Amino acid sequence: MNAATDATSEPSDHAAYRAEVRAWYEDNATRKRPDDPWATNIHIDPDEAAAHFRDSKEWVGRLYAAGYSGIAWPAEYGGGGGEPWMTRIEREVARDYEEWTGFPGATIAMLGPTLLRHGSEEQKRELIPKLLSAELTFCQLFSEPNAGSDLASLGARAVLDGDELVVNGQKVWNSSAQYTDWGFLLVRTDPEAPKHKGITFLLVDMATPGIEVRPLVQINRSAHFNEVFLDNVRIPIANVVGEMNDGWAVARTVLSNESAFIAGNRIPTGDKLRELAARNARSDDPVIRQRLADYIARERISGWMGEQVQQAIRRGERPPMDPGLLKLMASNNKRRAGDLAMEILGVAAQVDLGPEMFWAQAELMGRFSISIGGGTDEVLRNNIGERSLRLPREPGYDKSQAWRDIPK
Ligand SMILES: Cc1cc2nc3c(=O)[nH]c(=O)nc-3n(C[C@H](O)[C@H](O)[C@H](O)COP(=O)(O)OP(=O)(O)OC[C@H]3O[C@@H](n4cnc5c(N)ncnc54)[C@H](O)[C@@H]3O)c2cc1C
Repeated sequence: MNAATDATSEPSDHAAYRAEVRAWYEDNATRKRPDDPWATNIHIDPDEAAAHFRDSKEWVGRLYAAGYSGIAWPAEYGGGGGEPWMTRIEREVARDYEEWTGFPGATIAMLGPTLLRHGSEEQKRELIPKLLSAELTFCQLFSEPNAGSDLASLGARAVLDGDELVVNGQKVWNSSAQYTDWGFLLVRTDPEAPKHKGITFLLVDMATPGIEVRPLVQINRSAHFNEVFLDNVRIPIANVVGEMNDGWAVARTVLSNESAFIAGNRIPTGDKLRELAARNARSDDPVIRQRLADYIARERISGWMGEQVQQAIRRGERPPMDPGLLKLMASNNKRRAGDLAMEILGVAAQVDLGPEMFWAQAELMGRFSISIGGGTDEVLRNNIGERSLRLPREPGYDKSQAWRDIPK
């Protein structure tokens, strides 16, 4: 179901909640203009990008104050204690309005369930309300120049000194790290252990002395991600999430939530492609019609599967399927959407620089970010093969060797 189907027959309590959310949005948010469906979230100007981040942070705060952020989260940790379907309805209504939860919303989805599962009682009580209200925003400090797909080979070192860990190393591709208040960081605390065993998961205040964030400017001129340098950064040991040297389990929870979020957060594109075909007099072309039908069917199926996974995550249950499968489907859909947009526009796609074209180009080029960020398609296929299909594991000579002895 999407936002346009408000009136379909749903249980009366669902309909009543939808009406309540709709009324709040009407009073507090700006309806998207129907004549301008081609807006994108790409901000080339750095000031505009920073303002967009601030707006998203502020918007999450307003949602939280109104009871619409963390709707189904446990009340003892600052959530609303509601039902998972309430979150779905709120998300459906939200699609009709311009305000966006942006990166702070993504971090709630990635870090929130991770803290619920692995955090100490104190961390949950202290941090989850701040996360849900975006009082604190977090970036992900995982990847390194020599540790991307093979994340477990990461080398940022942390050494215990009293009740602090002293961190030295470099991270890269860290989305929005130039804006966030805090980060969640993977460091190597036991180089003698095999690579998956000696990693610790830490929370770090980005204002801590010794942290330098350098934005990376991309081909489209926006600076979505950064390099982050850590030079003798002192982090209290109380900021460890889970156990020392057991951070890999915590990281895997983040990555699984991230896959589910990336797949579930994809704004449906089928209606826009249909509109694009109508505006460009391609709606009667039988080949375009067939591909539109194929695309919309795939998008709906992914949406329903995504909802099942999201509901399980919101209930703190094991997802009914590997979220990596959903992310693979989302990445496949994105590729199809970009190709179809270009086919609909034809040669105009190469010369026209209007909003339709900018949107279509963003769809076309977005395939690269969705098929790499949060784990590449190839690596997700490996994971699904090994974990879900129980196929033989990929050969790995270094899985039981001490990390220190693995050739770098
Ligand atoms: C939009 C976006 C946002 C991101 N945000 C963050 C972030 O906030 N924080 C963060 O820490 N990182 C972030 N990343 C980094 C991302 O996690 C890594 O880019 C990703 O894990 C791949 O690592 P890599 O770039 O080092 O590529 P590599 O690991 O070097 O891979 C290169 C190629 O080799 C293939 N490959 C590697 N290993 C295998 C294998 N075993 N089998 C088959 N093929 C293989 C890959 O699929 C890929 O095609 C982001 C990336 C993108 C694109």
